[in-house]
Amino acid sequence: MNYPPDIHMHTPLCKHALGRPLEYVRVAALKGIPEICFTDHAPAPGGYDPDSRMSLEQFPDYQAMVEEAVRAGSVTVRFGIEADYYADSAAFLETWLDQQTFDLVLGSVHCLGDWGFDNEKYIDTWKRADVVSVWRDYFSLIGELADTRLYDVVGHVDLPKKFGYRVPDLVLKELAQPALDKIAAAGMAIELNTAGLRKPVREIYPSRLLLELAYDRDIPIAFGSDAHTPGDVGADFDQAIALARAVGYTRSARYRQRRRTLVPL
Ligand code: ZN
Ligand code: FE
Ligand code: FE
Ligand code: ZN
Repeated sequence: MNYPPDIHMHTPLCKHALGRPLEYVRVAALKGIPEICFTDHAPAPGGYDPDSRMSLEQFPDYQAMVEEAVRAGSVTVRFGIEADYYADSAAFLETWLDQQTFDLVLGSVHCLGDWGFDNEKYIDTWKRADVVSVWRDYFSLIGELADTRLYDVVGHVDLPKKFGYRVPDLVLKELAQPALDKIAAAGMAIELNTAGLRKPVREIYPSRLLLELAYDRDIPIAFGSDAHTPGDVGADFDQAIALARAVGYTRSARYRQRRRTLVPL
């Protein structure tokens, strides 16, 4: 099996992941994943969601950990970041991202206002929520994310399904299409993220329907495990590759110095 790069994984600096990057490298080598990219949660000095990210002062530790993994040499290691989009996020990211040497900037939406909708700690808010308007607000943020032109890939593009709160396909289509149009216009890729299989929804992000809509727009895909523990590197990539191929994809994206190349799947 010729596996695509795994572009999404974390480090203990985000306070909810285990294992040093070196251990992730070891698992990648064992599983035959030729390239991995660390994309830990970006610092947010403005005070956004401090419990699940490194501080700005810890950023050099992140660089050092990834460099240690690069030196291991058994698989190609890239240096990326998972940067949230939220109101005002650009104030910091616009200047900071340019000063770094990232291979890849993954753009994600995990919060609506101050509600971390993918955090099980706040699942009660889902029980009271108007599910359709949550999805509407979410996709309008994804559209804004694309419009900033600050990111290379959109992470887990249908994350609100994590706990099973879904909308009918017709509604999903109507809400997602404008966001996908903006992703395409920005020249971005989307992530095929296998972490959804390990969550209550038990499904890859995004669903087949959304992946088909992305394919129709020529939006490239990159594969991500979103590993928060070394054993999850490359998790369920066979299933993700099968899904991609079923939809028509024949190539996957890899990134170096924020430049994309497409490799055969
Ligand atoms: Zn995380
Ligand atoms: Fe994420
Ligand atoms: Fe992540
Ligand atoms: Zn993630």
